[in-house]
Amino acid sequence: MIKHKEDVYGNVIKFYCKDCQKIVDAKQVGRKNVFRCAICKTKNVAFGTEKSIKNFFHIEDEDSGEAESGNSKEEKFPKDTKKE
Ligand SMILES: [Zn+2]
Repeated sequence: MIKHKEDVYGNVIKFYCKDCQKIVDAKQVGRKNVFRCAICKTKNVAFGTEKSIKNFFHIEDEDSGEAESGNSKEEKFPKDTKKE
């Protein structure tokens, strides 16, 4: 299971592995802002809020059938709603 980490604004932080090309679980390397992919073990991992990661890497939501062009998706859920 992926543990959710949150930044100071309460946004859930996600990790995106550029090798796996998907959102992965990652472990921090030492005390640096470097993270290692839990799947392929490389440090080719970017991190950010779920929204920014999805925007940056053009990841589509699995549960949304259609993509609106030119419209950035706003978060539909209150931030305290956690999906199981
Ligand atoms: Zn990986």
